[in-house]
Amino acid sequence: MMTLPVRDNTLDLIGNTPLVLLKGPSEAAGCEIWGKCEFANPGGSVKDRAALWIVRDAEARGELKPGGTVVEGTAGNTGIGLALVCNALGYRTIIVMPDNQSKEKMDTLRALGAELVLVPPTKFADCNHFVHTSRRLAEETDGAVWANQFDNTANRKAHIEGTAEEIWQQMEGRIDGFTCAVGTGGTFAGIGLGLKSHSEDTTIALTDPFGAALYSYYAEGELKSEGSSVAEGIGQGRITGNLEGAPVDTQFRVSDSEGLEWVARLLREEGLCLGLSSGINVAGAVKLGKQLGPDARVATILCDTGFRYLSTLYNADWLRSKDLPVFDWLDRA
Ligand code: PMP
Repeated sequence: MMTLPVRDNTLDLIGNTPLVLLKGPSEAAGCEIWGKCEFANPGGSVKDRAALWIVRDAEARGELKPGGTVVEGTAGNTGIGLALVCNALGYRTIIVMPDNQSKEKMDTLRALGAELVLVPPTKFADCNHFVHTSRRLAEETDGAVWANQFDNTANRKAHIEGTAEEIWQQMEGRIDGFTCAVGTGGTFAGIGLGLKSHSEDTTIALTDPFGAALYSYYAEGELKSEGSSVAEGIGQGRITGNLEGAPVDTQFRVSDSEGLEWVARLLREEGLCLGLSSGINVAGAVKLGKQLGPDARVATILCDTGFRYLSTLYNADWLRSKDLPVFDWLDRA
């Protein structure tokens, strides 16, 4: 008889997410494309894992003490993960976020009780960038630690010890390729390192959105960006601490409209409501699958729930304002 999981602690609800065979992407690639359902984490995204590992690491190092505060700069999902983990462990959460992220993420953070500080979106070199603002706030707040998800490798450890092991087990060691996009790089580098420790033969491919600089870095050795993307949570311009030493065998660049096409198809044909980074990942996985051939088994990450983007990706006016194709069923609404 199949045993369903029982947990004696809410934090144990993080991770151990299902892996699902994606029908449309598998048909398009001519091989098996599997999606790791990270939207099934309690906070609705892959970032719950990093939040838990970062908080546990700060506790273990003695930096985070009972009643302490965790401060972080985030596009939103890490903040949501941190707020949940901190609520469960009795810590205060202060989140700094650029004000161009989805309203749903801001409302969710407020609803969870996080203290939200909004800053204008700026380049990383600007001292008011959300990352630098969050570091300063942590320094100025008594009993606070800075989560520092971009350079704190407790982030990728969550994926080396958690996500990669789970994927390896769920695919029974038969995995030929893995790909995903990069925000901090924790997911990509952690899973890449974890899978390579099992088998050097697993091809690890970067899927980069336009506007990010990693595709050119891994292809030509130069950080250089081209175009732009509206995808939230991905698109990196530097080699973060989490990306250092990441195994990268090949790389793809995926446009927002390619990613959106998969978001639309997965919703209409398979009943999955996802964010754009998931669509971009699936587009990358289809490219990798085509490259690896008909017997290949490829995995990617379904990063977060689409319910977080009802005012953007699933809103016809917003899509039009960004010159993106509008899902035909939205026009009927
Ligand atoms: N997709 C979404 C929606 C995200 O919020 C993030 C986190 N920034 C990612 C993908 C990328 O994850 P990572 O930070 O591990 O690179």
